[in-house]
Amino acid sequence: MDIQILPLDDSKLKSVPENDFGFGNKFANRMFSQKYNREQGWHDARIGPYAPLVLDPATAVLHYAQEIFEGLKAYRRPDGHINLFRPWENMKRFNNSAKRMAMPLVDEEDHLSAIIKLLELEHEWVPKAPGATLYIRPTMIATEPALGVHASSSYLHFVIVGPVGSYFKEGFNPIPVYISDTYRRAVRGGTGDAKTGGNYASSLFVGAEAKTKGYSQVLWLDAIQGRYIEEVGAMNIAFVYEGRRIVTPPLTGSILPGITRKSVIGLGRDLGYEVNEEPIDVHEMLEDVQSGKITEAFGCGTAAVIAPVGKFGFSDEAYIVNDYQVGPVARRLYDELTGIQYGRIRDRFGWTMMIEAKTRLKPRLRQ
Ligand SMILES: *Cc1c(COP(=O)(O)O)cnc(C)c1O
Repeated sequence: MDIQILPLDDSKLKSVPENDFGFGNKFANRMFSQKYNREQGWHDARIGPYAPLVLDPATAVLHYAQEIFEGLKAYRRPDGHINLFRPWENMKRFNNSAKRMAMPLVDEEDHLSAIIKLLELEHEWVPKAPGATLYIRPTMIATEPALGVHASSSYLHFVIVGPVGSYFKEGFNPIPVYISDTYRRAVRGGTGDAKTGGNYASSLFVGAEAKTKGYSQVLWLDAIQGRYIEEVGAMNIAFVYEGRRIVTPPLTGSILPGITRKSVIGLGRDLGYEVNEEPIDVHEMLEDVQSGKITEAFGCGTAAVIAPVGKFGFSDEAYIVNDYQVGPVARRLYDELTGIQYGRIRDRFGWTMMIEAKTRLKPRLRQ
């Protein structure tokens, strides 16, 4: 793929923030984009100024939500270079989501090269502050301006990047989780295993309800029996039994196959824990929390990495996990995973890809 590099307007350049990143509201000066139509396939690949999109009000994505996205991070290494964590997995999942949403596939190597090129140009935006990263958001939207319900004939694929701090206001501290007994996130055969916008739109109402009850995330149960645990917010979930056995629900089609989840399974086994993918009945889970058989629970995803659960709320009852403390297994997984991601400890799994942060040719663009 040939990527055209467009010049930036020097008068409009934003400078790199030092701290106070927030989550997902500051973006670097450049973005990648390419277009698709049936005649030309993918074309017009470019890295140019970060700018608003101009869309016809009839554009398909605005009406029927034919949209997919990914989320990965660039980490600043102690030697000043940059790490990506298992980016090949994100490229593969982007195409799996595209397939499910009747969208065209993107060449995985080209997609990754575009991200690397963008990072090379914007490497100064990868924060040096501890715990901060540059969040990378690849997205594809349906752009045909027509209201007929059918797969769009044209698409826009773009990648934006922005510095982020820690995902939760709590930091690496336990979060309270609300179990919805009424609303469901996804059903087997639906789109729960695709990273597509509609899944999140339909979760917001319950998220707001949980907040009013003092909970920061929602735990989703399976949509058929309302009994088996699936995910927590936009994270996968795992439980620790008696301090040594890690259990996470199996991927049955309604759960998003998380890369952090996959890494927790691999790393957990490497560290000597027994790790199982098994269905978890919510009533049994709550009993096991009360009896102390479950010693820890945690969410896992790129944004938070590991998010320990301090309590579950279900039918107006609260169930406290591990005295609302971060447990040793969550702590260990968090330290090891972030150690590998930031390049502080040796990557014995081959999960990271290093990008050299080269000094720019045009120092006046720096700031
Ligand atoms: C992105 C996401 C996850 C976590 O996936 P990672 O690859 O670990 O970031 C889990 N559940 C949902 C619903 C998600 O959107």
